[in-house]
Amino acid sequence: MKKILLATFVLLASFGAGFSQAKPTHAHASMSPEAKELLEEAIGVVCTQAKLDPKSSIAIDEMQARPSLPIQSPEARAGAERAQRLLPVAKELVITSLRQLSTDYGFQNSRNFNDRLRQAVARVNSVKRVRPDMDSRDNASVFLSRPHVITFGTIFLAGLRSDEGMISVLAHELMHIADGDNDSLRALVGAIGNRASDLTGLSIHGQRGEEVTCDLIGAMAVRAYIVSTPDYQSIARRLARSIQHNCVELDEGDEDHLSPRNTIRALLALNPGLVRELIDDRF
Ligand SMILES: [Zn+2]
Repeated sequence: MKKILLATFVLLASFGAGFSQAKPTHAHASMSPEAKELLEEAIGVVCTQAKLDPKSSIAIDEMQARPSLPIQSPEARAGAERAQRLLPVAKELVITSLRQLSTDYGFQNSRNFNDRLRQAVARVNSVKRVRPDMDSRDNASVFLSRPHVITFGTIFLAGLRSDEGMISVLAHELMHIADGDNDSLRALVGAIGNRASDLTGLSIHGQRGEEVTCDLIGAMAVRAYIVSTPDYQSIARRLARSIQHNCVELDEGDEDHLSPRNTIRALLALNPGLVRELIDDRF
């Protein structure tokens, strides 16, 4: 069984309603050969930093190969403390990023969408706790029966060795919570998935669209965090931490997830600002 479930959302409710996608009018986007080349160069920066940066996030295939880690181990405890400490910041950053995306994708004047967004923000605000879990290994999940808690595998907690890496995954899970059990942000998620599909030529619909949206929110949250906490490290190094857990050797996806390296591709295609910053500030 393929298991590249980085940060899964365990759906205990079934999808009763059909996946009726809104059809926003959007120009058919595509990428120039030059833009594609820059994007591949930026991936190179991210995955080179994975080897150079002592605080880089461990790749998920490497995490999967590791033995389970007891909750009381020093690395898991340090990770759990980091996650709990950063949860309030991550919540704020997710809400800001979500509002930004809603405007970017033209939903700011939709009353229906704004109602849903308000409820999504309330769900994010109600998250209180990170629960370390040995059996979850390299996954993080949200159970709809316990929407105030993010369950975090101890291997994953230990493998995200920077605030940036941790915020990115917390933001990913918070975006699942924002979308909720009724996929209430499906119009936005669908629009982002369509755009990512157009740009990359990959099929990014349904659950894949949601996963990419969660990762996009994660990258945006980290970008905003870096701006608000300047330090001596290079921006590229810090930005790379938000996506480099995808720098795998074994690049496999499944129905619900793009492969990790295609996840980086989709994210950077959606956010060319990141490409520029990764390349311009690589040293
Ligand atoms: Zn997910």
